[in-house]
Amino acid sequence: MRTAQVVLDIPTQALDSAYTYIAPDHLDDFQVGCSVLVPFGGRQAVGFVMCVSEYAEDDLASLEADAGCKASKLKPIASVLSKPFFDENGAACAEFLANRYVAPLSSCVRLFTPPGGVPRMVRGAHGWRLEQPTVGEVDDRWVRLLPAAAEFTPRKGAVKQEAILQALSAGELRVAELTAEYGSVSSVLKSLEKRGVLAVESRRRMRGMERVDGAGTQMDYRSVGFEPTAKPQLTEGQERALAEIEQAYNAHCGRVVLLDGVTGSGKTEVYLQAIERVIKAGQTAIVLVPEISLTPQTVARFRGRFGDMVAVLHSRMSVGERYDQWDFIRSGDARVVVGARSALFSPLANLGLIVIDEEHEGSYKQDQAPRYVSRDVAAWMAQHVGGALVLGSATPSIETLHRVHFDEAWSCVELPERANGKPMPRVDVVDMANEFGSGSRSMFSRKLQNALKETIDQGRKAVLMLNQRGFASFLLCRECGFVPTCPSCSTSLTYHERGASLVCHHCGYTMAAPALCPECGSPYLKKFGAGTQRVEAELRGTIEAFGSRYHVTCSSDAEAPSSMPISEGDIVVDLIRMDADTTSHKGAHRALLERFASADAAVLLGTQMIAKGLDFDDVTLVGVINADTQLRLPDFRSGERTFDLIQQVAGRAGRADLPGRVIVQTYNASSAAIRAAARYDRAAFLKDELPKRKALQYPPYVRLADVRIWGKNEGEVRDHAIQLYEQLRDQLSKVAVGDWLILPPVPCVLSRLRGNYRYHISVKAPLGSDIATVLAPVFRARKAQSTVSVAIDVDPQSL
Ligand code: ADP
Ligand code: ZN
Ligand code: ZN
Repeated sequence: MRTAQVVLDIPTQALDSAYTYIAPDHLDDFQVGCSVLVPFGGRQAVGFVMCVSEYAEDDLASLEADAGCKASKLKPIASVLSKPFFDENGAACAEFLANRYVAPLSSCVRLFTPPGGVPRMVRGAHGWRLEQPTVGEVDDRWVRLLPAAAEFTPRKGAVKQEAILQALSAGELRVAELTAEYGSVSSVLKSLEKRGVLAVESRRRMRGMERVDGAGTQMDYRSVGFEPTAKPQLTEGQERALAEIEQAYNAHCGRVVLLDGVTGSGKTEVYLQAIERVIKAGQTAIVLVPEISLTPQTVARFRGRFGDMVAVLHSRMSVGERYDQWDFIRSGDARVVVGARSALFSPLANLGLIVIDEEHEGSYKQDQAPRYVSRDVAAWMAQHVGGALVLGSATPSIETLHRVHFDEAWSCVELPERANGKPMPRVDVVDMANEFGSGSRSMFSRKLQNALKETIDQGRKAVLMLNQRGFASFLLCRECGFVPTCPSCSTSLTYHERGASLVCHHCGYTMAAPALCPECGSPYLKKFGAGTQRVEAELRGTIEAFGSRYHVTCSSDAEAPSSMPISEGDIVVDLIRMDADTTSHKGAHRALLERFASADAAVLLGTQMIAKGLDFDDVTLVGVINADTQLRLPDFRSGERTFDLIQQVAGRAGRADLPGRVIVQTYNASSAAIRAAARYDRAAFLKDELPKRKALQYPPYVRLADVRIWGKNEGEVRDHAIQLYEQLRDQLSKVAVGDWLILPPVPCVLSRLRGNYRYHISVKAPLGSDIATVLAPVFRARKAQSTVSVAIDVDPQSL
């Protein structure tokens, strides 16, 4: 007899698991990873097969022991709905995720299925019914000439026939293309097909892929081709890195290599050559890149080396495009997957190597269940399949650096120099408190202004970064200190220049900015902080104040830049603002970067999004307008993030022949993170940071978990939090050994959000301990409640 473990595809807050079903012999194509229809609670449900077991006919005892119930109670699977979405490795990984991150198993299995590609049950007017996937394969009809075409002469006067044959003589075409050009072509094609002159055939279409010539296809939104790129002679450091990776790979036991190299040190080139060897050995590779760095240039580098063996997956692609890439991977033709976080779960067979570029990036943590950390999941996967993991970064996370120290399976190769031999730019720190003290009221220090003018005079480019985390402009009453806050979130409202409105950035609540203080009636409401819009306005004024020759065109201006009168000797500066507002529509991000690339003198002003992946030869100045807003956030990682940010942004200056310089403005000029970053001195930063982490019990010395509880009624939320806290302590006393710490529930930093009251419970566990042994039993026993929600975050990235 055959049984299967099936996890039901029903969204749940509770910790679910797989159920046992009988798998009747007549089911065709029945394997692990298939979606199936099963009876469940008086109706039918869709589920995924996690594992299949066989029992001898006379061995009912084993079956009943495994299933935990009488065999007669087991129900049969009704039907198989799809080809497998994952294999045994995928099923094992889903179990690992559910366990490690104390997450519903169904949410973990879902990571392995293509978006929109799964059949599901929906409740309609007449009860439940099965809905087929919303995306699937699409075919194109292609026309190509057959050899007989050479001898064929069209009948005189058959103009359309002649034109079509002419067009096809240059190569095959889609029926749709012919129709667009010549109108209805079906009768012409039919008659020519009958005579053996041409063939019409259906072929699978790859959405997002467009034919460029007879030779191949190309991804249109990336508009990058197959231009093969030459393999450069590796530097000595790169050779060492490659040898280390090869050794790790050949060990087939999940070893991890950290490539610790500054931006431009040639890490990507090392990944490329390592992957080449893995492919030669008949295996495949996954490369994770932060979403924001997944640009056409990045894709082009991989396609330039591996051509049409490269699949690309990221969230900006349409559901159809993603489905096609996913299916291309499953077909076995893709050997390299380049993608964002979730590409880790693509159906790539024979995985040998995983690369995580910019491994320190916060976006590798998923912010909904399962709240996994890509690095840790990738390390598990590499071990599970007997492959290797490569982590690359100019600013490795402290956890990774620490792990390299104590774990023999982890090693590190440094690439301290840029591949082109150019030195890293000089970093000057400007103390803004001093600047203010000496009478300057501008948000740009005199040093930054002078450097900006010099850069513009030379017709070069500057990048100015506004660190916007925890920093936006708000209104403050100078008489009574009142700050307008959101009625349903515990945050101050952000002031928007356009329309003089106040907006909540969590829930979208909007109101007109008041003229008088609603609290005391005072007219002295002052704007504090600086949004990008305000910085843009002030920057424009600053540049125009350089002299009457200086003119500014802004990317956010409505009028065309050409309307400005220009005379001999005038300098036009293109001011390009890049933030969430200006990049919200499709293609805007890219259009702004292209405008920046083609300008002469130009300033790119933006939020953190500009710190990554930009590679312009003629950027000679990088300014950080406010380096330290992050330092004030109550988060154990804020020093590390500040250090990383300055290092990353410094890597943007002077990448080519022109020397670059970096100016960092701060109100915390004495902070260790900023001082060390300015000297590129990681050791000094760690020397200051690590003892603090140790004393306060934070990673890398402990493991954290954060349990968040929220709901509309504060008393209910608090009571539930206290109850959970007591249950956790109880469970702790039963199972855990070592120094655990469970802190009593307290309100979150954002104590109200979208009308919900929020509490959290922090758990600190010894390194290497299994947090799930304490958390899982409590949350398994917890009854689902409609008024209070709970989220479990194991290994949170901030706390
Ligand atoms: P990273 O990934 O560390 O930022 P890249 O691999 O992108 O570094 O390399 C930076 C630049 O140097 C790229 O333009 C790359 O083509 C070039 N490069 C990398 N390795 C070499 C090499 N061995 N010889 C010459 N140029 C190289
Ligand atoms: Zn007031
Ligand atoms: Zn709000």
